[in-house]
Amino acid sequence: MDYERLAEILFPEHLESPEYYETIYPLRDLPEGAKVTRLGPSPTGFIHLGNLYGAFVDERLAHQSGGVFFLRIEDTDDKRQVEGAVETIINSLRFFSINFDEGAGIDGDTGDYGDYTQSKRGPIYRAFAKRLVAEGKAYPCFLTEEEIAEIREKQQELKVNPGIYGKWAHSRELTLEEIHKKVNMGEEFVIRLKSDGDLSKPEDQIRRISVKDAIRGELSMPENDQDVVILKKTGIPTYHFAHVIDDHLMRTTHVVRGAEWLPSLPIHVELFEKLGWEPPIYCHTAQLMKLDEEGNKRKLSKRLDPELSLDYYRREGYHPKAVREYLLTILNSNFEEWRIANPDADVDEFQFTLEKMSNSGALFDLNKLNDVSKEVLLKVPASEIYDFLRAWADEFRPDDQAVQTMLADRAYMERVLDIGRNAERNPRKDHIFARQMMENLTYFFDETFEITDPMPEEVVNAGDVKVILEKYLATYDHSDDNETWFNKIREITDELGYAVKPKDYKKHPEDYKGHVGHVSTVIRVALMGRQQSPDVWEIQQILGEDRVRARLEGYLRALDR
Ligand code: GLU
Repeated sequence: MDYERLAEILFPEHLESPEYYETIYPLRDLPEGAKVTRLGPSPTGFIHLGNLYGAFVDERLAHQSGGVFFLRIEDTDDKRQVEGAVETIINSLRFFSINFDEGAGIDGDTGDYGDYTQSKRGPIYRAFAKRLVAEGKAYPCFLTEEEIAEIREKQQELKVNPGIYGKWAHSRELTLEEIHKKVNMGEEFVIRLKSDGDLSKPEDQIRRISVKDAIRGELSMPENDQDVVILKKTGIPTYHFAHVIDDHLMRTTHVVRGAEWLPSLPIHVELFEKLGWEPPIYCHTAQLMKLDEEGNKRKLSKRLDPELSLDYYRREGYHPKAVREYLLTILNSNFEEWRIANPDADVDEFQFTLEKMSNSGALFDLNKLNDVSKEVLLKVPASEIYDFLRAWADEFRPDDQAVQTMLADRAYMERVLDIGRNAERNPRKDHIFARQMMENLTYFFDETFEITDPMPEEVVNAGDVKVILEKYLATYDHSDDNETWFNKIREITDELGYAVKPKDYKKHPEDYKGHVGHVSTVIRVALMGRQQSPDVWEIQQILGEDRVRARLEGYLRALDR
């Protein structure tokens, strides 16, 4: 067949030559070893943890090596696009310190390798599809949906692999005249790769491809035999074709993508081969998994796990540093060890490597994230946490009176945030994420103060709540230092028949009504509304004398009612 002629029939419009594109997108002038990576999200508006996880790998690879990290919008699936999605992608990732050097942007593209939006690259894909047709490596296929369904049925009956390949690829047989006629009649067609693969041979004669995956090592898989669609009826490329063309012309060196793409790797390898190009280095990342209630690993699901959405972390108010630090713990198995050895180092000093990535499923665990967050926030100064809370509240709680009131007095809030954090040994680590912090700190503010916990049973049974609070109030001196203050509590404890040392009470419970801990819990509940809190003396110093007295008096008044 005259393939050149066929190509002209199928692509009559003016197209640039593949060589033209090779020249306008030259090899990048980068230092030896510099990596070029890209993120290729679909603009569906839903950005998930997997995107961030992958983006993080891309970003580290590029920026640790002096390379380039770019954003390409993969909008060939025209059904699922959402207005403003590009902006959301860029902003969400920027929040987690993932910044692109090049590519699609809110105000248009930057960089010399664009367009960076696949829907704008139509002529490029067509130019290369035309070349493949002209070389007899691709062909038009006129099969209708119904015909394809029939083929599938027959294949099922015969128990052979499904798909359009080999003798099932009926359009391969068409003559130039037949094709010309169909095209003239306006029949729709797709362009398919004419695969050289053959999987119908005996098992031991099947050719295999081998790819060195930078995360998974040597991969060996049966070659592709499917005549996959490269251009759809609409002229839009499939993922397979767009990936190969774009990553070649944009000079991507490392393709980081999810393990769900592994099965189509043989297709990509054949496409690169047919186009005469060197494939990039593939890095197939592990699926994000979580432990379910029964302790079984399962994939994170959009329906079941709100924490899969990146939005979740912003709404809850996780500090980006915490998320970044946590991601590294699941990305690189040696990160935690490094962190122990370098407790104060900037997280970006850690040398991220593909070799230390797990390939068997990365376990995502919110509790672990919370633990990491506690550690990370401990090192963030109160003034910075305040700024963070302020920004969170303005974005997510602008009309929440309670939250806004709590943040009204910056100096006061900073002292609140700092309680117990500066202790030499065992500093307090109760800050995790913004919503939790705000809920945790309500008792520092009259507008949000509430009694949520009961008084300790031992004291209630002895009928001593009132007398403890009266005595405490009577001896309260705001200028007492911590020790003098606590001695006064000891005195009350002793006077009323409670053990000053908890262990005495544990040894001889019959000799006491309770111990000093129960007595101070009474004060905690009256002052803070809760049985647990940081150091009472320190809290009182922040609350101020008036508030302390008012709360104790208030509690006593309520008792009398
Ligand atoms: N658009 C593809 C996706 O959303 C990107 C895969 C890739 O990175 O190659 O999954």
